[in-house]
Formats: sequence, C-alpha cells, structure tokens
Amino acid sequence: MGFRRSLYKTPAQLRAMVEPGLITAAALDAVRAIIAPGVTTLELDAAASAVITGRGAISNFQMVRGYRHTICSSVNQQVVHGIPGERVLEPGDIVSIDAGAEYKGWNGDSAITIVIPDPSRPELVSAREELSRVTERSLWAGIAALATASHVAEVGAAIQRSIEASGQRYGILREYVGHGIGRKMHESPSVFNYRVPEQGPEVRPGLALAIEPMVVAGSEVTFVEDDDWTVSTVDGSAGSHWEHSVAVHDGGIWVLTAPDGGAAGLAPFGVVPQQIG
Ligand code: MG
Ligand code: MG
Repeated sequence: MGFRRSLYKTPAQLRAMVEPGLITAAALDAVRAIIAPGVTTLELDAAASAVITGRGAISNFQMVRGYRHTICSSVNQQVVHGIPGERVLEPGDIVSIDAGAEYKGWNGDSAITIVIPDPSRPELVSAREELSRVTERSLWAGIAALATASHVAEVGAAIQRSIEASGQRYGILREYVGHGIGRKMHESPSVFNYRVPEQGPEVRPGLALAIEPMVVAGSEVTFVEDDDWTVSTVDGSAGSHWEHSVAVHDGGIWVLTAPDGGAAGLAPFGVVPQQIG
C-alpha cells in the first residue's frame, strides 16, 4: 500500500505540462521533416533527441528501464515499441513514431504515423494512408469525447465508434492502452481504445491523459519480437499509432502536445480547446 498519486492535478500543475508537451511536439516535427527513403530509424531518433536536449528537457523513454533510445519507431507490421537502429526506410513504408519529453519534472507523450510515398505502389500507399487517417481521426474523436465525458470510458467508446464508422474492418490492439500522465509518463488510469464495461474514473478538471489508439489493417493479435520490445501483428498487417497528451481544466480541454491546443483536429467535432487558465 503505497502513496497513491491523485488522478487530478492543480491548474498550476497542468500549466507545467504545457512546455513538455510542446517540446514533444517539436521533436516529432523534427522527425517528420527528415523522414524519407534512405533515412535510418536511428537518424530519426537523433533528430528527436537533438530537439529534446536542445530545449533543456530529457527523453522520458530513456527513463524506461532497459530502453536507451529517444523514440520508438515502428515500421509496417510493427505497431508500437519498435527500437531505432540501422534499418533503412523504403518507399511505401508506414512508420509510427512515438516520443516523449520530461521538462522540469513534468511529462509529454505523443505519437504520429507517416506513410512514405511510393509512386510505383499507389494502392499500397493509399491503403496505408487510409489506415493512418482513420487512426488519427479516432484519436481526435476520443479527445473530443473527453471534452464532454462524465467518465474516462467514454473516450474508448468514441475511439471504437469512430473506427467502426470508417467502414474498414480494422483491428484495435487490446493489450496496449493509453494512460494518465504527469510527474511520470505512465500514471493511472488506463485509457482503453475500445468499449469496456467499467465506466472508469470521473472526468473532471485536473485530469491529464495520454490517449493513443493503436490500429491495424487486419487482426489485432500481436506478438513481441525477439528484441523483447517490438510489438508486431501476427498476420503481418500494417499498423498505425497516434497519440496526444490532453488536459481537462476548469475552462475545457487543451491538447498539450499540439501547438494549437488541438484546435484544428477538434474543429470537425465542434470542440474548441481552451487555454489552461
Ligand atoms: Mg507514447
Ligand atoms: Mg503513451
């Protein structure tokens, strides 16, 4: 029985999470800027690392026991937790990049998916872009649901509903879920990406969540590769992972890992993010 950190943060604590969120966003922007055929995943890692350390923050992934890199880079049938290395990216690859920064003791956590163009395989590329688009949209649907939710489980229900509404028979990973975030990158509660019977904790000001749907083009059954980290689909279907860290405060919600607070992503849902007062 240890000390249980409160699920709900003070306005000052939420404000302290703005900068690590923006640093995390900048690290992912740096990766986005250089990703191309011929680039190695280790080079993506270096680009993210330069931004995070350059802004006086530290990679919170490096504080995860046994992990030495700044990002996770998951390519094609890899969905999450891929380790950067000598792998050279190729046209048509679908690449999910997950990164996080800790700044002055507070954490950000965010992920994006990028499909590398391949003019010789338009069908493969468009199928992968659709997977990424549906996954990203489900993330925004989950964030939008948080704005009016009474309990955390409404987020996962909205994510699943959004994916089902795409008409695609995609799988949603079950074993890996979102989480609370704050002093630690991973805090309570779990944030499921699908409907669950329990309604979860109350949504009220002070809640900070990392919402992160992990979606695959085929079966959601995965395995961990021999490197003990990389999560890949058993059927070899491609995966996509999108994530944002989001704060609930007195005035509404604010997406900490989006420079615009989530305004663009939330607009289709009629939700206007509000700066933390
Ligand atoms: Mg993450
Ligand atoms: Mg996370």
